[in-house]
Amino acid sequence: MNDLYARHRQVLPDWLALYYDEPLEITHGEGRHVWDAEGNRYLDFFGGILTTMTAHALPEVTKAVSEQAGRIIHSSTLYLNRPMVELAERVAHLSGIPDARVFFTTSGTEANDTALLLATTYRRTNTILAMRNSYHGRSFSAVGITGNKSWSPTALSPLQTLYVHGGVRTRGPYAELNDRDFVAACVEDLRDLLGHTRPPAALIAEPIQGVGGFTSPPDGLYAAFRKVLQEQGILWIADEVQTGWGRTGEHFWGWQAHGQSGPPDIVTFAKGIGNGMSIGGVIARSEIMNCLDSNSISTFGGTQITMAAGLANLSYLLDHDLQGNARRVGGLLIERLRCIAAQLPGVREVRGRGLMIGVELVKPGTDEADPKSASAVLESARENGLLIGKGGGHNTSALRIAPPLSLTVAEAEEGAAILEQALRSAY
Ligand code: PMP
Repeated sequence: MNDLYARHRQVLPDWLALYYDEPLEITHGEGRHVWDAEGNRYLDFFGGILTTMTAHALPEVTKAVSEQAGRIIHSSTLYLNRPMVELAERVAHLSGIPDARVFFTTSGTEANDTALLLATTYRRTNTILAMRNSYHGRSFSAVGITGNKSWSPTALSPLQTLYVHGGVRTRGPYAELNDRDFVAACVEDLRDLLGHTRPPAALIAEPIQGVGGFTSPPDGLYAAFRKVLQEQGILWIADEVQTGWGRTGEHFWGWQAHGQSGPPDIVTFAKGIGNGMSIGGVIARSEIMNCLDSNSISTFGGTQITMAAGLANLSYLLDHDLQGNARRVGGLLIERLRCIAAQLPGVREVRGRGLMIGVELVKPGTDEADPKSASAVLESARENGLLIGKGGGHNTSALRIAPPLSLTVAEAEEGAAILEQALRSAY
């Protein structure tokens, strides 16, 4: 155990998750690469969804941040804040939500907390529908709507949460159903649930479940749910913390892939939009956003420095059509991984959209999750210069691939080759 890891274990909580038997200390990055403290270089196939949406150390963002740091960083409330107004205008426009208002926070958790505050206040009930296998953050209310119980450390919650089928289907009672029957069964379940409760405030859902292993509901499921919920005025909250800003390639927002009749009532976002600076936020039409009748502020949500980063990063993303890049390069990568998977009995499925790709592992010849091989693949990929993620609940058996959106074709091929080698050594 190296010295920093030993010190980490002495002073930080045991439940702060770390990857690898010998955790990495990342010291710097550039483009799609990062370096560790020993000078080893890695192709980063995971940091794109954590912090770094476009590229590591993107000069445009670095310049905007350092200029802003030399000018002013002050409270984002009480005084007018030009970069916050400018980013809010751009985000409101991009959201497609009519008469949209935007509130900036410091994290995805705080964004979802705010969405829950709005939905429960607007609808005057604290009952929330959430998907099984979901992840929505780490605050007291966010863990109370997190269906993935390996990330939900308390059963107590200020909310009354009802979990809805449809989050995951690779195993369990619905695994054998085809898409149409699966959708019908889940809708039936939802109707049954609603028949036994007062109408909830909202349903919160990730368009593609992130921590849950990059699993996507089948076409038509969310659209069918939305129709049922709209009959009772129940709001739709799309948690776009992982899926927003073009990551899924075909669409700018993840919810757009699901054939719903219109934009969600509330959208939450966070992670990479600040390319490392902490930006989270909530978008809702003004009637919902303005339902709070007391003051509510976030001192650090929307500071000039984070907003400067967000503006520079968003401009780069749009000017360089990184959504199109995610579609093209992500499409090639998915194809390449599917070819590799076809030769390996331990790879059950390669799934995803754009540059959000999940690789589900099983014990060969069975349908059983294979968390040991998932960890072995992570270690082996790291040894050969590739960082990937994993996800999927207690039996974490899915590899997660989410590079910065500027990934090149050559880098995609290089990463796929390393991953192929790691998979072949595990199976
Ligand atoms: N929602 C989703 C879908 C997430 O993936 C995450 C983070 N993994 C969050 C919310 C919470 O975001 P944060 O860690 O910034 O609080």
